[in-house]
Amino acid sequence: MTERVLLKNFDPMRPSPPVSYEAYVLNGGYEGARIALSKTPLEVQQIVKDSGLRGRGGAGFPTGLKWSFVPMDFEGQKYLVCNCDEMEPGTFKDRALIYNDPHQLIEGMLIAAYAMQMTKGFIFIRYEYRRGAEIVDAAIAEATRHGWLGKNIQGTGFDFHLETHLSAGRYICGEETALLNSLEGKRANPRAKPPFPQIRGFLGQPTIVNNVETFCNVPHILAHGPEWYKKLGLNGNAGTKLMGASGRVKNPGLWELPMGTPLDVLLNEYAGGPARGKPFKAVIPGALSTPIFTPEQFSTPMDFDSVAKAGSRLGTACVIVFDEGDCMVAALANIMNFYARESCGFCTPCREGMRWAYETVCAIRDGNGIVTDLQVLDDLGRHFGHTFCAFAPGAQGPMQSILTKFRSEFEDHIAKRSCKAKA
Ligand code: SF4
Repeated sequence: MTERVLLKNFDPMRPSPPVSYEAYVLNGGYEGARIALSKTPLEVQQIVKDSGLRGRGGAGFPTGLKWSFVPMDFEGQKYLVCNCDEMEPGTFKDRALIYNDPHQLIEGMLIAAYAMQMTKGFIFIRYEYRRGAEIVDAAIAEATRHGWLGKNIQGTGFDFHLETHLSAGRYICGEETALLNSLEGKRANPRAKPPFPQIRGFLGQPTIVNNVETFCNVPHILAHGPEWYKKLGLNGNAGTKLMGASGRVKNPGLWELPMGTPLDVLLNEYAGGPARGKPFKAVIPGALSTPIFTPEQFSTPMDFDSVAKAGSRLGTACVIVFDEGDCMVAALANIMNFYARESCGFCTPCREGMRWAYETVCAIRDGNGIVTDLQVLDDLGRHFGHTFCAFAPGAQGPMQSILTKFRSEFEDHIAKRSCKAKA
């Protein structure tokens, strides 16, 4: 039986009102913060480092190590930012956390702020999660009333002021430096790195940006210790992971599973197997911007290193599932439509290439493709690796892997000028 940590107060599969402050405290809430505030900031950083927590936004960078890059002797304002932009198609894990248990996020951010001595924080929330922003605002007010936010927190002399910021609603706002530009009221273009936000972030000051799920792990690590946390995962992986499934599965949803749970367990035991009696054909394992898996890879453990070794990325661990009735040419057209729409337009291979790729795949899908189209798509895909930010390489993953693994479907569409899946 999986130990529920992040989901211990609610079940994302059963809609219910957000967990109140009283219910949160009754179930051990704010104990992690109490423990953190009794330690030195560097001790808290060390506990998070020792736990093996890796960023849950997709990159998997060690959280404690990231925190340690913030200069502790910096005397000006430092900022803590939570990335709740969650615009990656197929991903709905952070939404569950903020709609259902907002105090868990607030407590995690308070501990992080204390560990890095940051007195000001923002929660950057996807525009479509407006209701979630209201829920978090109400929880911030509750936490402030109970002395967990604001001035002189629990009499320790530490101040932390937290507020929400609703995104203007573009995918690129989820890239951490574009997010900071957006938060400053500027156009959401990514920034050149270095300097990294830890040194020059929001308003040019040291800033840490972490994902919602990352912060939500932190109170439990402080409350139960790093050794307990490390043992939650499988095969030496630390912690649990929120994993979701959408597409051609019987029971789409979201679950908390040990980090390292095999993909086929997620697909068959939790998501209920194929939805319409047709065998699974492919899975995008980490939400949209990750290379696609075919059935011989379905035994891959869902953890950062194993998924990378198998040729993709864990990303958000929210899988998108296709079955044998799906046309992968039409699927790629849908995928490229998203990327073409969401390019920020800053660099040419991305701005022009996404649209060109989308129109080329549409032509093939609609029976108007020509043999050289596949060469065009291969060339465009290579250029997506040479752009200013990770957006275009993100599109490159699904595009190149679908073109490689389902080449015969594309060739068939071009040769026969029709789609077998539609027949
Ligand atoms: S890769 Fe795309 S999203 Fe990133 S900076 Fe260039 S145009 Fe913008």
